[in-house]
Amino acid sequence: MKCPFCRGTSSRVLDSRTADEGAAIRRRRYCPECDRRFTTTETAVLNVVKRSGAHEPFSRAKVVSGVRKACQGRPVTEDDLALLAQRVEDALRATGAAEIPAGEVGLAILGPLRDLDEVAYLRFASVYRNFESLTDFEAEITALRADHIGEAQPLESPSPGSLVIEDPARDDPGVTECSQPELTSSST
Ligand SMILES: [Zn+2]
Repeated sequence: MKCPFCRGTSSRVLDSRTADEGAAIRRRRYCPECDRRFTTTETAVLNVVKRSGAHEPFSRAKVVSGVRKACQGRPVTEDDLALLAQRVEDALRATGAAEIPAGEVGLAILGPLRDLDEVAYLRFASVYRNFESLTDFEAEITALRADHIGEAQPLESPSPGSLVIEDPARDDPGVTECSQPELTSSST
């Protein structure tokens, strides 16, 4: 285990104890090369069970690649995607299950993706939930609009010099893109 301070490889374990109600083990380590201490966490591998019955370790990279397609052309950065994958993993680990059906991974993606970008969310949800008609989109958009009511957010992106409404209840203003879902309706 490399020391996070000096990258030295001769750290020693001082102490091990269970954490998160037995779901993890924390080890206190000492690095004799720089004389500093750090903590590592050991958790069980989280397995995803695919429809075929095959098992594979949960992969944040796979979450990112799955969501990236839905985010094409959207104001979503690689950092946003990495954070989303982290949130998904945290949510899945919080269930305490060692094996997660692949479908539940998709379900766990929906919430964080909706917070990140609503257009990307609609794209992802339309595939994941097998939207079959415009009615499915309408229902989803109605649900999104209902959530906007009472949020006191401007409906259009603020232009330079315009009043920016600050919501003190929000920890990270500016992270949530305030975009209305855009659907291209085919004209008949
Ligand atoms: Zn060190």
